[in-house]
Amino acid sequence: MHIQKDNSKTGKIDGIYYDRSMCDKNLPCYRPCYWGRCMARFQNVAQYAEQNTALWRDKPEEAEKRFRAYLEYERPDFFRHLVGGDFLSLDNLRRLVSIAADNEQTHFLAYTKKHDYIEEFLSIGGRFPFNFRLRLSVWPNFFPPDRLIQAGFQLYFTGTPSHYIGTPFEQRAAKAYECIGKCDTCLYCWGGYYDVINDFH
Ligand code: SF4
Repeated sequence: MHIQKDNSKTGKIDGIYYDRSMCDKNLPCYRPCYWGRCMARFQNVAQYAEQNTALWRDKPEEAEKRFRAYLEYERPDFFRHLVGGDFLSLDNLRRLVSIAADNEQTHFLAYTKKHDYIEEFLSIGGRFPFNFRLRLSVWPNFFPPDRLIQAGFQLYFTGTPSHYIGTPFEQRAAKAYECIGKCDTCLYCWGGYYDVINDFH
């Protein structure tokens, strides 16, 4: 399993990324995806992403064991899931939540467009522990379902507030915290109580 130790965006915060095999190609973000560009540019990143995906998809018990060992040994204060890619399945989501619940020393963060998994997770009684911050990704023409909005999840908007004028999210996008692009000196997404917005990148 490749744990990312440094990144131009997240800085020194550890994280893990996957490839894009789980992404819905019909989503508006798929073609202009920065992560797709990154993997096309850096062969080692693409290889690590594919290896991480294969491990969590094909050998989830082994992946969980290795990830728990990493957390026990390194005990990071903050961790970023899904630097690239998204939840692989409901099982994948449940494992990561369960791992977070057992590792209260670490604050986890994930952004996701797998809103259907989140709905399913909630419908079977799933809950996110205090140290797992989940933000629902939003694009100007891709919005989370009402049930998740009512459940109170925070949002991560892509674009600028002007892209959301005339949508049900106009007010929230206008009030959202503007991403500064350097997570280890910001940390807002892990603890802030407003939505976040970041321009197309
Ligand atoms: S708002 Fe801060 S913590 Fe969130 S993605 Fe941007 S730089 Fe990172």
